[in-house]
Amino acid sequence: PYDKVLEIRKENISPAVVTYYKKPVLIHQGHMQWLFDWEGRRYLDLIAGIVTVSVGHCHPKVTVAAQKQLARLWHTTNIYLHPKIHEYAEKLTALLPEHLKVVYLTNSGSEANDLAMLMARLYTKNFDMIHFRGGYHGGSPYALGLTAVGFYKQGLANGFGCHTTMCPDVFRGPWGGSHCRDSPVQTTRHCSCAPGSCQANDKYVDQLKETLNTCVPKGIAGFIAEPIQGSGGSVQYPKGFLKEAYKLIRERGGVCIADEVQTGFGRTGSHFWGFQGHGVVPDIVTMAKGIGNGFPMGAVVTTTEIARSMSQALHFNTFGGNPVACAVGSAVLDAIEEDGLQKNSEVVGTYLLLELAKLRDEFEIVGDVRGKGLMVGVEMVTDQESRQPLPPEEVSQIWEDCKDMGVMIGKGGVYGQVFRIKPPMCITTEDVDFGVAVLREALGRHME
Ligand code: PMP
Repeated sequence: PYDKVLEIRKENISPAVVTYYKKPVLIHQGHMQWLFDWEGRRYLDLIAGIVTVSVGHCHPKVTVAAQKQLARLWHTTNIYLHPKIHEYAEKLTALLPEHLKVVYLTNSGSEANDLAMLMARLYTKNFDMIHFRGGYHGGSPYALGLTAVGFYKQGLANGFGCHTTMCPDVFRGPWGGSHCRDSPVQTTRHCSCAPGSCQANDKYVDQLKETLNTCVPKGIAGFIAEPIQGSGGSVQYPKGFLKEAYKLIRERGGVCIADEVQTGFGRTGSHFWGFQGHGVVPDIVTMAKGIGNGFPMGAVVTTTEIARSMSQALHFNTFGGNPVACAVGSAVLDAIEEDGLQKNSEVVGTYLLLELAKLRDEFEIVGDVRGKGLMVGVEMVTDQESRQPLPPEEVSQIWEDCKDMGVMIGKGGVYGQVFRIKPPMCITTEDVDFGVAVLREALGRHME
């Protein structure tokens, strides 16, 4: 059916929906960290449906939970009580700091961020939001205004009537040593600052102060940041930066929102939530993607006080918190715990980062290897001295070669120059050996 599917895709699906690869792969089946195409070829999935298949494709326990609920009750909306939503809310909030205890279930990450922004504005009675260049927070009209990557904006300058305020420039990361950012990979080559005094941090804090003083002197509604930027290319902030940013925002009356859509649910390894790795405590946490292992769902969790600011008006969504999503979400939390997936992210993620760092030492075009746990980026450059992004056609060729050798990798970064490696969290060190060997072979071919 390949040609037929491709024809329908071209004719009947919006061209704004992109497909990976010159010859897109027709996926037929998935099992844990593996995907199988229509002809039965097997691929190691190192991008997990854009960081979404958290516990593994068709994870048996999650599949059974979904099947059981499908046979009992699909949908009522929230106009009736049903046990699954309450069971899920209790389980989810138990994983968050105590003051974050009010849950609003959504269908996606964009919707969660829209809602978080609405809450921040209602609560503070201010309007402006602070967000970072290179951040991605969604494609819906509100969230698009927070997404500071031009090519998502369809040529409209700042989203659709959504006024947000830019944004210090953290988009290619500090390129610092491991004393500057929280990663097992040493990158002393480009780092000129002494341990304990990161110049990148000082620079970004100054930029943020400047933005706050000049653009929003009268106060702000909120600040949103991914604990590690995802689509922006696995960008990590210098150590201590987010803590400083939260302090500056709160001094001006804003609330702090952690976008955990990619970093949540144990992916960063050392912690269940990305914000915990920065020693900060948000006022609102948004989540999606890995929350449902591929089942469409999202959530906003906040404080009683902030939640109350919305309660004068009805905010309704039809599908949020439906019984099947809640059953799936609950089984995903069980699988993370029972399969030890947060620990696996830490152990296998560290192994992956160190193996990839060898490629950086072997190939001049591998500019940076960064990340934490199974949230990893490999930045491609023309050479390690100039650090200019490798042209997109060259990045794509390496990426296509990896696919042809059975390894699917993600791509991101504001210049499309970063390979994103964020597999299902059940991946093993043997899989890493295979994935890295394939990438090494593809890089070698490129240098020939
Ligand atoms: N926030 C982040 C950090 C994301 O990566 C994404 C999706 N790429 C979103 C929000 C939006 O989520 P969704 O696509 O489910 O609307």
